[in-house]
Amino acid sequence: MHSSDMIIRAIRSVIGDQDVSLHDPTFAGNEWTYVKEAIDTGWVSTAGKFVNEFEVRLQEFTGATRAIAVANGTAALHVALMLAGVERDTEVIMPALSFAATAAAAAYIGAIPHFADSEHATLGMDPDKLGEHLTNVAERREGGTYNRLTGRRIAAVVPMHTFGHPVRMDELCAVCDAWDLVIVEDSAESLGSYYKGTHTGRFGKLGVLSFNGNKTITTGGGGAILTDDETLGNLAKHITTTAKQPHRWEYFHDRVGYNYRMPNLNAALGCAQMEQLPGLLQKKRSLASRYIEAFAEMPDIRFATEPENCESNYWLNAILLDRADSSMRETVLEQTNAAGVMTRPVWTLMSRLPMYADAPRMDLTVATDIEARLINIPSGAGLAQ
Ligand SMILES: *Cc1c(COP(=O)(O)O)cnc(C)c1O
Repeated sequence: MHSSDMIIRAIRSVIGDQDVSLHDPTFAGNEWTYVKEAIDTGWVSTAGKFVNEFEVRLQEFTGATRAIAVANGTAALHVALMLAGVERDTEVIMPALSFAATAAAAAYIGAIPHFADSEHATLGMDPDKLGEHLTNVAERREGGTYNRLTGRRIAAVVPMHTFGHPVRMDELCAVCDAWDLVIVEDSAESLGSYYKGTHTGRFGKLGVLSFNGNKTITTGGGGAILTDDETLGNLAKHITTTAKQPHRWEYFHDRVGYNYRMPNLNAALGCAQMEQLPGLLQKKRSLASRYIEAFAEMPDIRFATEPENCESNYWLNAILLDRADSSMRETVLEQTNAAGVMTRPVWTLMSRLPMYADAPRMDLTVATDIEARLINIPSGAGLAQ
């Protein structure tokens, strides 16, 4: 039996006596100055200099040719999937172990999530198992790759870099190339995470980021679409800003547009947060390395560390209990929270949510195992001092 007391003691040895939540934001720079400037100039909403400035800073940081700031990460995923060619009644392969937004974005289009298993080393999609699964169920036909069992086209594959730990992208790209499948990366959690030196979100045709209040940096609510394709970038900007053709006074919209743009007020916060990002990432690394030390003496607890050849942002720190025993997990959650140390389980597998009961899936043994064992622990950069 695990001693919750030992877990509490290990966490307390790192974060001290304070009662903290899982991921508090840190505002230590020009946040107030820039937000005030946005208010003082009257540009709080659909125009103003901070949106462009924020996009440029995201491009410089990630290396992406284009970054398009939008209202939130879910909206970014919705539009990225549309631009990748996802249509009604097609399937989108994604990990069952992800936040609900990954599947919701596909469902908004009328597409069907097709759930893939994860692997222990990265906590993300297992490329080898995906390859085997495709060999079993998929078929190349004119017009695309089809699921032989459902007759539907498989329109995209959406890897998600869980808690900032990158998926094995070389292997995943090879599988998707072989089946001619488009990749859209859900890199909502992985701003500041690199796979073999390249920023996550830059391996697929498109990638998305989130700047929700609990993410590595925040704009209050916000997201971005990343792409190296200029044409797609322009289209993403157009679609997310109501698809109105530029004109001095005429309202002419050339397709169904979305009011998904990021308000200038939020982008002002984002510009200040981008200035803080390198320092925040450093603090998160130092917090993680202190957790690594604290849990090193507990052989029945694994602290999730960055995969080989990767640099993780350690967005949300996670420990895995040695046995997949949900009553043990409940006990640890119960006792840590009672002791003022906020912990949370990982998301319920999306394959078990009622709206996806009939969604296609592969064997999900590893995702099920991770779900029963994983517990997130306090991770805010402010805890690093
Ligand atoms: C946070 C998150 C999103 C979307 O984020 P919002 O900005 O909250 O809409 C999408 N996918 C994953 C995996 C996330 O963690």
